Amino acid sequence: MTSLADTGSEKAATAAPIEKRPVERYVAPERPSLVGLSRTALAETLGGIGVPERQRRMRVQQIWHWLYVRGADDFEAMTTLSKELRAGLGRHFTLARPEIAAEQISVDGTRKWLLRLPGETPDRPHDVECVYIPETDRGTLCISSQVGCTLNCSFCHTGTQRLVRNLTAGEIVGQVVLARDRLADWQRAAAPAGTESEKRLVSNVVLMGMGEPLYNFEAVRDALAVVADGDGLSLSKRRITLSTSGVVPNIVRAGTEIGSMLAISLHAVTDELRNELVPLNRKYPLRELLEACRNYPGLSNARRITFEYVMLKGVNDSLADARALLKLMKGIPAKINLIPFNPWPGSKYECSDWEQIEKFSEIIFNAGYASPVRTPRGRDILAACGQLKSATEKLSARERLALRAMAMTD
Ligand code: SAH
Ligand code: SF4
Repeated sequence: MTSLADTGSEKAATAAPIEKRPVERYVAPERPSLVGLSRTALAETLGGIGVPERQRRMRVQQIWHWLYVRGADDFEAMTTLSKELRAGLGRHFTLARPEIAAEQISVDGTRKWLLRLPGETPDRPHDVECVYIPETDRGTLCISSQVGCTLNCSFCHTGTQRLVRNLTAGEIVGQVVLARDRLADWQRAAAPAGTESEKRLVSNVVLMGMGEPLYNFEAVRDALAVVADGDGLSLSKRRITLSTSGVVPNIVRAGTEIGSMLAISLHAVTDELRNELVPLNRKYPLRELLEACRNYPGLSNARRITFEYVMLKGVNDSLADARALLKLMKGIPAKINLIPFNPWPGSKYECSDWEQIEKFSEIIFNAGYASPVRTPRGRDILAACGQLKSATEKLSARERLALRAMAMTD
């Protein structure tokens, strides 16, 4: 185990820079995967192996269907392509998804995958997590956008780690594809078109895993375009939520160039406290952040912004905080998500008492906001302190630390 072993100990000191720089770059394998390429890039790629220009559009459409509707993981399955083309593709490319290093399944159906991504040198791979949370009316996949994180939030385990590198668009799309693989969630050949989407197990995607998606803007944007493509994975943008700690200049860009739902990790109602919890606040203070939210393209009562608020005992959980939160939200079509803090080894915070969370939530609710408290899911595959239980012998201690207890969504 290499990657997380090296990244686990960097504490964000007070004087630490607000943003970290990546310590590695992505090195493409000799035979790259086609998963996650845009249609344009796919057409160019086909051109590169000699597919004539007049055929490319049709070939892209066919490959797209095999990849994202039928879930093909082998060129040989693509029976609408000629034998020669299948062989040519196989010589130069793969349909590889991120490698699964470990899979855990909770009694409540929550699944957690530890994914191994290539490092700059072959002997130093990196791990990120991906979690599937089934509910009665939907199934939510929580995906990662970076190995580590650019930022240093003091209550977040990922924040204490180095930023190793950004994920590629292929690695981001690959998480959705592999979840559909593992859940057998692809359209079967016999199923009449149009009937399958209703029953899709992965119906929602949230960017709430490892990393700050708005610091990997282009890859996230391009990946979500593939995920939302109506002829492929076909997840409506209303079912895709991007969570950000508040990268203000990229919030408006996200609205125009991505168009997904937006969640803001607010966590504090004063700049003084937010500077400590989310140091990025020193660069983009609350006033600017809320202004960017008010101007979020497409914002309406039907498309509200979700404000996430982690409940930290004695830090941000007073009833005065709840009332100040309502004041801040004024005029913004919003939902408020109260998140019980998940402690991790070495964390300096505690989760608020349940009673306090209820009182806090009541104030929010009485003001007319839905304020669901995220129920922790997959508890049996996470120990109370945010580590995995010893049953997961396959994982090293460091890997266990790396799996932040975040199997919760709304
Ligand atoms: N970087 C993005 C998305 C990933 S974090 C962001 O910060 O929004 C996803 C959510 O989990 C954020 O709201 C984050 O603040 C929250 N989170 C991080 N660590 C947590 C912890 N230990 N307990 C509870 N929530 C946590
Ligand atoms: Fe990064 Fe989000 Fe964690 Fe902050 S809360 S360190 S932005 S992953």
